[in-house]
Amino acid sequence: MPQAKTPKKPRLFPPSMAGQCMRYAVMELLGFGRLIEPLAQEAMREGSMLHKSFQNELLQTENVRAIEAPIRDPERGISGRMDAVVDFKQGAMVIEYKTVNHDKFVGIADEGPLVSHWAQLQLYLAIGDFAAGRLVVESRMTHGRLTYQSTGDALWQEWVLARVAAAREYQAAHKLPSREVSIQCAHCDRWQRCFKNEAERDEAISEHPQWWTEPPLPAEFRISRIS
Ligand code: SF4
Repeated sequence: MPQAKTPKKPRLFPPSMAGQCMRYAVMELLGFGRLIEPLAQEAMREGSMLHKSFQNELLQTENVRAIEAPIRDPERGISGRMDAVVDFKQGAMVIEYKTVNHDKFVGIADEGPLVSHWAQLQLYLAIGDFAAGRLVVESRMTHGRLTYQSTGDALWQEWVLARVAAAREYQAAHKLPSREVSIQCAHCDRWQRCFKNEAERDEAISEHPQWWTEPPLPAEFRISRIS
């Protein structure tokens, strides 16, 4: 007699999805594939090598508690790994490290961190027991770095937890939310799930380049850039 299949456990929410388009995050939770272009694959390989060097550097320069430290919030259905947790004067600090292309790096230097990076850090601060969090962004071209620090921002944490809860509801219902069309669609590795072809995608972006989210993104965020 054929054995009944054990139902798969639903995927837990990865913190790296915290500041992404809701539809993209739900696709991740439902296990949809991605079409990663060769250039993006190369950037990912380079980023992953830089990641390891950064973690080695931390081991030599900081009071490291853990590298690739697991973090879980079973009630909210969140699970992931933090790049590092270090001890500093006020207690434990979570460190998130990101690499970006140089154009993005210049934009971040002018306008502050990307929502996706900042939201991930705020999610760690919302669900973990940390005195502070640090975001380090490195240019893959010049290896210049920008460093931001936060002790937790209530508005951002509220936003990010609301987004996680909404994504989990869509996941439970096996339903994709509507598109959150923005300029990000041009670089999305799941855009084929949202548009028939590039022309349709580009027209949608030109009509709606700004990213609108529900709930709306916090209008301001307090960020201290420390280097
Ligand atoms: S193409 Fe745009 S709307 Fe679709 S998942 Fe990607 S970012 Fe979201």
